Amino acid sequence: MVDSSRKSPQKVVREVIELCADCDTCRTLMEKDCVFFPELYRLSDREKEEEIPVTEAELRELVELCTLCGLCPCPRVPEDLVKAKNGYVQKEGTPISTRLMIDVPRLARLCCTFPRLSKALTKNKAMSTLLRKVTRTNPARQFPTVTEPDFFSGRKRKA
Ligand code: SF4
Ligand code: SF4
Repeated sequence: MVDSSRKSPQKVVREVIELCADCDTCRTLMEKDCVFFPELYRLSDREKEEEIPVTEAELRELVELCTLCGLCPCPRVPEDLVKAKNGYVQKEGTPISTRLMIDVPRLARLCCTFPRLSKALTKNKAMSTLLRKVTRTNPARQFPTVTEPDFFSGRKRKA
């Protein structure tokens, strides 16, 4: 495997697109199990058939669709996508969505403190679009549902 640690994240993702577009196996194999491959083939087909180049923003969003689950047949793909993700983090810093997801207790406290606000932000279409933009969360991903009352206060009430 070519060392991709020194390449720009965009170049690493472009190479994954070319590799998987040439191979084409995961177009059908991973169609239902992974949101990364359908988007990869959509962008690649569009580029070939309509001559609309894949933009840097689209490459960035494509990388975010891979959860590194490791289900795809070639280990090279998640390995290279880890390198691309790292490259983007070095360039841009850690996205707010990732910082929130890393600190799950804080996210849970925030959502439970303001359950109505969290619901309004995630369920209202306009607010949800804005929130996705701010947190750079891909439209294919769902925000977690906040229950009311939350589990812990529900338990306290029952005790
Ligand atoms: S992950 Fe491997 S098998 Fe799947 S399309 Fe890419 S190169 Fe082909
Ligand atoms: S590792 Fe990434 S590309 Fe491979 S199946 Fe999982 S989400 Fe899809």
